[in-house]
Amino acid sequence: MIGVGAGLLMSSKLGSWGIAMTAIGSLLPDLDHPKSILGRRFPLGSALGIRHRGWMHSLLGLAIFSYLTSLINPSLAPGITLGYMLHLLADSFNPAGIAWFYPISKKRIHIIGIRTGSVAEYVINLIIIFYITSLILF
Ligand SMILES: [Zn+2]
Repeated sequence: MIGVGAGLLMSSKLGSWGIAMTAIGSLLPDLDHPKSILGRRFPLGSALGIRHRGWMHSLLGLAIFSYLTSLINPSLAPGITLGYMLHLLADSFNPAGIAWFYPISKKRIHIIGIRTGSVAEYVINLIIIFYITSLILF
């Protein structure tokens, strides 16, 4: 959701492909989770033994996926990078946090502690939905 919202906000810069790539980029870090949207379809994390919120949820993962995307098609890299970065930021709002500087430091960092499924998360999601809707309608 954050990836789509950011893509819409920057649609004049990114274009429709950029919006789509931002949405896809926002899903990529959770490839390491077997129950995520992408993880269910492509069980890469389970197959390779990648731990959830490990290197894929770090600046290293961001750099690797951004670089690989730029090799495939450089015009897609800004959207993928933006979406990936926003996912990392969003996960930093969860009490579990992420190890931004893995493998240099495995210390997980969180900004504030909003639990998944909590009232605070629903309120934030509603605000984002209303904001995106207003961008589309007005
Ligand atoms: Zn995540």
